[in-house]
Amino acid sequence: MTRIALVGIGKIALDQHVPAISASPDWELAATVSRQGRVDGVEGFTRIEDMLEARPDIGVVSLCLPPVPRFDVAQAALRAGRHVMLEKPPGATLAEVHALRDLARAQGVTLFATWHSREAHAVAAARRWLGDRRIESGRITWREDVRKWHPGQEWIFAAGGMGVFDPGINALSILTHILPEPVHLTGAELDFPANRDAPIAARLEMTQGITADFDFRQEGPQTWDMEFRTDRGHLALRMGGNLLEIDGQPAGGADTIMGEYPALYAQMARLLGENASDVDLSPMVLVADAFTLGRRVTVEPFAF
Ligand code: NAP
Repeated sequence: MTRIALVGIGKIALDQHVPAISASPDWELAATVSRQGRVDGVEGFTRIEDMLEARPDIGVVSLCLPPVPRFDVAQAALRAGRHVMLEKPPGATLAEVHALRDLARAQGVTLFATWHSREAHAVAAARRWLGDRRIESGRITWREDVRKWHPGQEWIFAAGGMGVFDPGINALSILTHILPEPVHLTGAELDFPANRDAPIAARLEMTQGITADFDFRQEGPQTWDMEFRTDRGHLALRMGGNLLEIDGQPAGGADTIMGEYPALYAQMARLLGENASDVDLSPMVLVADAFTLGRRVTVEPFAF
């Protein structure tokens, strides 16, 4: 078993990382680093430097912090010669993740920028099906209720929190994984609440006739769908990449996200075995380009 420390004990750490690590024969959760969060029965630190110094036996650090505070912690862990796993999005900016990738290389350690949605049940099948087809158009609809999924997470609407791109980047991580040809952004419109520094909704236009509609204000049924028209048929991924439809008929998958994090930790174990890194920034390039190219629309103030 490989000893691992979890940093940032908040919603995703407790909902997904702790259960995935506990259930795996590869991993032992040996420490946490969090100002307030704790995991019963696991040694807790409040500062990364203290954990790195006190526990040289812990070789891997998995970061579940929001993107803005993540860089300094990742840098400290890599400088201390530890392997690092990053929650999505891997950083607040592209440049800081480039710096982490270079540092990991120089240190000879593994850096894994995870994209949990790529592990959804139907994504691999969708990638195979699209592999030898030509995309004619695509439509992504990612609409969820921020109050339900991110209750009170003020950081998400602060600068660098990415707003609606926090879930939207999950769709883009699937998109960039399943398309046979690379895609890039050609236009965007971003809705910023008058009292916030990150968008609450966004509409994107990309090459290959692909559009995306992201919205954090969806009450009632939630939508995480992607649909593609190709030269030979129609493919839809529903429920965040978990259900597959071909030409309107169910074609596989399972309506649960519980397999995604175990798959990420299994992949991290493989990367360690191969002494390799996996840092694909293509989903984040689309988000950065949306901020660069996007027209800004001011909408009504938002409160949790
Ligand atoms: P969260 O509940 O707000 O937890 C993040 C934890 O990070 C906090 O509990 C906090 O713990 C620590 N932290 C350290 N510095 C912080 C700062 N400046 N601001 C806020 N928290 C800080 O957030 P989360 O939902 O777990 O999301 C964390 C990351 O996981 C994000 O990148 C998100 O995109 C990703 N993610 C979230 C979900 C989800 O469903 N929520 C799903 C997949 C991925 P202490 O106060 O104890 O230090």
